[in-house]
Amino acid sequence: MPKEKFEALSQYETSPLFDDLERLGVVDHAHLGHGPAVYHLTDQEHHHLVCERCGAVVEVPDQTLAPLSRRLKDEYGFSLRPRHFAMAGLCRSCRA
Ligand SMILES: [Zn+2]
Ligand SMILES: [Zn+2]
Ligand SMILES: [Zn+2]
Repeated sequence: MPKEKFEALSQYETSPLFDDLERLGVVDHAHLGHGPAVYHLTDQEHHHLVCERCGAVVEVPDQTLAPLSRRLKDEYGFSLRPRHFAMAGLCRSCRA
């Protein structure tokens, strides 16, 4: 399972340092599930898929969701921020 280094920073979620960095646009946070948010550098644009069974985190590039994002904007006038929340489901090995 690819475990990324910035996910490890989640334990500092409540640190004022991250609030400051987020205000400055250096980091961004995402919610992978019911737990605390994780922080990423804003230049690492990816979206998370989280397995509900084993907790595996799969990263997909932002452009994977671009067609959906465009459609939501066209049809609903809704500007999606897909990186804010992970999408839940079952990973390849749990589906097997
Ligand atoms: Zn990530
Ligand atoms: Zn799984
Ligand atoms: Zn949030």
